[in-house]
Amino acid sequence: MKRAINVGGGYAGTTLARALDPVFDLVLIEAREAFVHNMAAIRALATPALLDQIILPYDRLLNRGKSVRGQVSDVSDQGVTLASGDRLSADLVVLATGRGTRLAKGCATWASGSGPARPHACT
Ligand SMILES: Cc1cc2nc3c(=O)[nH]c(=O)nc-3n(C[C@H](O)[C@H](O)[C@H](O)COP(=O)(O)OP(=O)(O)OC[C@H]3O[C@@H](n4cnc5c(N)ncnc54)[C@H](O)[C@@H]3O)c2cc1C
Repeated sequence: MKRAINVGGGYAGTTLARALDPVFDLVLIEAREAFVHNMAAIRALATPALLDQIILPYDRLLNRGKSVRGQVSDVSDQGVTLASGDRLSADLVVLATGRGTRLAKGCATWASGSGPARPHACT
């Protein structure tokens, strides 16, 4: 089974990860400890009992793949490098890092770069 790395676990990243989970050996890499359902945050401020329902740990997201907490510092044709220095290789890298991150800004360059043709996606 091919290895996929999904960087970022916001709304886009979690949706993609759940779609990729059945068909890839998937690793989701996310800097934060848990997904925060922003759109329900204001309601949760008024009703604090809802807080447990809007903060969702990543370890419950995937059925087959695994979630890794870490900051991706570089992306290449081979895979990704974490700020810790660890490297993970993959056949497919999906960047779902939201707006304004250095990784997302570099995505277009990477996707059209001189490396081998690879499936990719950026959000
Ligand atoms: C309080 C609040 C309320 C909102 N309400 C609404 C609303 O009602 N309706 C609406 O349409 N929008 C709303 N938004 C905006 C909405 O949350 C964003 O549009 C949405 O989060 C974008 O999703 P995304 O997955 O593209 O990016 P993000 O949610 O930004 O997710 C990106 C993820 O990638 C991770 N990441 C980034 N870089 C790295 C890296 N190098 N290594 C590892 N992980 C990385 C981040 O930690 C983050 O979890 C709200 C936002 C906030 C803050």
